[in-house]
Amino acid sequence: MATTQECIALENQFGAHNYKPLDVVLTKGSGIWVEDVEGKKYMDFLAAYSAVNQGHCHPRLVKVIQEQAARLALTSRAFRNDQLPFLAKELCELTGYEMMLPMNSGAEAVETAIKAVRKWGYTVKGVEANKAEIIVCDGNFHGRTTTIISFSSEDQYKEGFGPLTPGFSMIPYGNIDALKKAINKNTVGFLVEPIQGESGVVVPPKGFLKEAAKICKLNNVLLVADEIQSGLGRTGTLFAFEHENIRPDMVIIGKALSGGMYPVSAVISSKEVLGVFNPGDHGSTYGGNPIACAVAREALKIIIDEKLIERSAELGKYLLNKLRNINSPYVDFYRGKGLWIGIVLKKEAGGGRRFCEALQKKGVLAKETHENVIRIAPPLVITKNEIDSALEKIEDVLTR
Ligand SMILES: *Cc1c(COP(=O)(O)O)cnc(C)c1O
Repeated sequence: MATTQECIALENQFGAHNYKPLDVVLTKGSGIWVEDVEGKKYMDFLAAYSAVNQGHCHPRLVKVIQEQAARLALTSRAFRNDQLPFLAKELCELTGYEMMLPMNSGAEAVETAIKAVRKWGYTVKGVEANKAEIIVCDGNFHGRTTTIISFSSEDQYKEGFGPLTPGFSMIPYGNIDALKKAINKNTVGFLVEPIQGESGVVVPPKGFLKEAAKICKLNNVLLVADEIQSGLGRTGTLFAFEHENIRPDMVIIGKALSGGMYPVSAVISSKEVLGVFNPGDHGSTYGGNPIACAVAREALKIIIDEKLIERSAELGKYLLNKLRNINSPYVDFYRGKGLWIGIVLKKEAGGGRRFCEALQKKGVLAKETHENVIRIAPPLVITKNEIDSALEKIEDVLTR
């Protein structure tokens, strides 16, 4: 078997350097545990940015993907398959929406949402051709396509990649007055993460989403929730927007929709909105393929059968309380919902990277985001004992 150093050297030589991963080379996973090529075991406290909410290599997902791969893998949407209709029905029944459109990556689903909202703006709301505007938030993360990075507030995401796509305006996250001011007759949508993940698990001020939903309704603007990272149990509810009792017009999901087994994403919405697509308007060769749909159906059932939403709510509260009892000279404060916690470090702590490297040595894998936040997001199948064991290591690293 290849060694850590061999793998790193090969990747550095032949792979583009668009990431700066921790120097750990993983080869196996099960539940919350992963193992590197040297045989060392770690608790995964990132869960592939919440794609692996159901735990690594969930036996039910392994079984379904093996069976479906052996039966039928890809038809393209030129023909129908016998998995997509049932994923569509089950997803709509679970979420209470009327229609879904399947894609592969999260970014593709965001692109799909943008196209749907724009076309709805022209054909239903009556916005003048090519004038549609979508409002987004400062600190957003919605993916990496050219259009999506066009409305990022991260300079690095954009620099060198222009010309950028027009039609977006930005407000400070959580600022309701700014939202009111930004809306004009051409505004067709407000695209928002109910909790910002990549920004460092940023929870907006209480009431912001509720107010935003009201203002959108009043102005005939579609509220689009990007729940790719926050959704499907991560925050202790099926969707993070439920914490404010709202119902967005459109929801974008991905990541945990397949439990980390396969790229599957989707947008879910009403007939009024997704009905704007006519044959030929949009598509994807792999979108809605039988493997993706069979895996997603099982991944959703696992969330319900294993009560992962309830676990996240309960264990998240427990973990956050325990963390808050750690007396660390480096931590400014903690924030989050469910098993999704940002440890916000003080400026003088010197960034999150060295804490993550120290955690790695102790057998816990986590990743800093935006320099000074350590994101804690283990698979939702984690047990209380495993949390206690990880807490000891986190406390060690934060108090040393
Ligand atoms: C990860 C993520 C995306 C992009 O998903 P990809 O599958 O990486 O394209 C979009 N929005 C949010 C909120 C995300 O966390």
